[in-house]
Amino acid sequence: MPNLLLTSLGTRTSPYSIPRAQQMAPGSEPDQHISWRNLVIAANYFDQDSEYAPAQAQAQAQAQAQAQAPERHITLRGAEPTSHPEFVNIYRYLLARHFTVRVFSSGCMDPVQLEALGAALVPQKSRFVINVHQEQDRTDVETRMQDRFFKALGAASSLAFTLMGPDPHMDFLLDIIDEYQLRPKIRLGLAHPMAPRPGNHLSPKHYGGVSETISRFARRCDQQGVILTLDCGFTLCDFTDEQLGTLLRANANLNFGCGPIIDVGPDLSTRPCFALSNLQPQPLEQYPTFEALRRFFTELVRAETRKRGFFGVYKKCDPCRYAKRGQCSGGCRSYAFEERS
Ligand code: SF4
Repeated sequence: MPNLLLTSLGTRTSPYSIPRAQQMAPGSEPDQHISWRNLVIAANYFDQDSEYAPAQAQAQAQAQAQAQAPERHITLRGAEPTSHPEFVNIYRYLLARHFTVRVFSSGCMDPVQLEALGAALVPQKSRFVINVHQEQDRTDVETRMQDRFFKALGAASSLAFTLMGPDPHMDFLLDIIDEYQLRPKIRLGLAHPMAPRPGNHLSPKHYGGVSETISRFARRCDQQGVILTLDCGFTLCDFTDEQLGTLLRANANLNFGCGPIIDVGPDLSTRPCFALSNLQPQPLEQYPTFEALRRFFTELVRAETRKRGFFGVYKKCDPCRYAKRGQCSGGCRSYAFEERS
């Protein structure tokens, strides 16, 4: 599912979210919001299976709405998507277009907008994935805003956590889920470098230790009925068989891949993903279908990484049978622009 970036404006500071805001639309205005025109174009684009043709897609959308259209999905991101001044109306519009709306947010939302969002909320068609930091990385204001968000929208919210350091403490995530009765899901992501300007990230030399921490945490999640999902860029060989078994038993969603997700910016420029956000952006409308766009970025990323002699984050990735069998991508490809471990 591609990401639609509503705005470059963020609402909190963190070691990782500031670079995201800066790199989302290089060279563009600092606080760029998506316009309604671009939003409708993007919605039309994601609301079709074949040819990109706005007029045709609009007609199809109306016809499908009348005939109880099948469910479609869209993911909204930012910097902080809820900081778009029209966020609630955008949310309403996408629901009316029969999208199930997933929002990646910090939960740090303007209180007036939050109240309006609560009034418009359709929980069964909405997923708010709220990225929280460890207590020492959180400001009091951030904690208060997230408290307000969870009280208002907890039934539609789950958590995300970015592993930025070698010794993450994640038990507090379970406490938050318990306290606010959130959806029992946690999405774990690794902080990757952002090519070609590396930001703060977790070095692969810490992956082994972090895998053990994740495995221990999975046991606690299992007991509390919380499902873990690994985001992209995890490395298969850094988990032992026992750790993998623990994760499987805990019903975790495992992922050892790295492929273009596709981020669509407020100006409809597209990028393969956040970590590779500076790699030759492409205009959305230049590609007749999403599949054509994905193929372009798959080839581009492959060519750019191979050009740099990159086959994975470790030297041992090149002859690795897990890579050959497509079980592991060898970590995040943005490491092609960093030194290999
Ligand atoms: S491809 Fe690289 S990171 Fe993945 S399992 Fe093989 S050696 Fe490990």
